Amino acid sequence: VSVLVQELFKLGLLVELGAQTDGRIGRPRSGLGVNGDRVAAVGLEIGVDYLAVCVTDLLRRVRFHRVEAIDNRGVTVDRVLDRAARLAGTALERAAVDSVSVAGIGVAVPGMVDIDAGCLLVAPNLDWADRAIVAELRGRLGNADLPILIDNEANLAGLAELWLGAGADLGDYVYVWGSIGIGAGLVVDGKLFRGSRGFAGEIGHIVVDPSGPECACGGHGCLERMAGQEAILAAAGLPRIASGLGSPDSSLPQLIELLNDGNVRALAAVRDAGALLGIALSDISNVIDPDTIVLGGNYADLTPWLAQPLEDALANQVIAAERRPILLHRSTLGPDAAVRGAAAWIIERVLARPGMAVSY
Ligand SMILES: [Zn+2]
Repeated sequence: VSVLVQELFKLGLLVELGAQTDGRIGRPRSGLGVNGDRVAAVGLEIGVDYLAVCVTDLLRRVRFHRVEAIDNRGVTVDRVLDRAARLAGTALERAAVDSVSVAGIGVAVPGMVDIDAGCLLVAPNLDWADRAIVAELRGRLGNADLPILIDNEANLAGLAELWLGAGADLGDYVYVWGSIGIGAGLVVDGKLFRGSRGFAGEIGHIVVDPSGPECACGGHGCLERMAGQEAILAAAGLPRIASGLGSPDSSLPQLIELLNDGNVRALAAVRDAGALLGIALSDISNVIDPDTIVLGGNYADLTPWLAQPLEDALANQVIAAERRPILLHRSTLGPDAAVRGAAAWIIERVLARPGMAVSY
């Protein structure tokens, strides 16, 4: 233990807290703590209608957080990446001002990812395909040595629930990321279930109405097309500007206000979305038998209105529900979960192998 502690001291990751007496006879103990001022990680999120960045330190404190509302659809990939790299640069500057060294950047994207290759394979809602995001960001940041990792936003949000939220107490859970797209982070035995090729959790493309409208993926009646935030806002009669996250133009606070006021159209829009979510999540629950379903992203704020139709569907359609009901949990991380999970991913890697550079 003392050899390990010495090594962590040398790396500056531990600090001595001074002598600690607990009233017992004998030599006072020397307290040790994690040094939160030495190492940090940057989280970067490329959303469909926003960019977000944060700096998180080893104690998982958020030192810096910024969100830029911008519709990334219809904009060239290069322009979005230019802007994302600038935002990441702002976070790196902030870390430098704080004199913390950045162990890496975790990047959350709204699509399927080859995490080993650092590539976004396809993001239907952005209409992007086969982009080497890690290499492109690294080129723009001009720092060849800085580790950059990329993963799907719902995966990172689901892991954020495990590392920063209530996930560790939830058993096996399905974390549902609700934004323009819908994704899931499937956490089984305390680990993210990725599937054989890393693409598990694409629940947004479960068909809930085969005769429904066309989806960006090419299918029809996909869950995210029918119950995603744009479908809800349209059904409630609101403009489809969401960008949540404190944007002054966002329609989401308006929606919440209408729901609180008992507006019939808004209530029906969210209730219908909850019922459709219930169909998809009942199917998933019958297959993987989770303890809990976590509503996250923009769904977190809508949980008071989504819960009833969703719970009704789970009670009626999950075969085991009568004997062992599935619990519903509202994520406290809300729409910040993916960007915070991206930074926490780097921090977890530092904690797992403190002396090693973060890499694959
Ligand atoms: Zn689809």
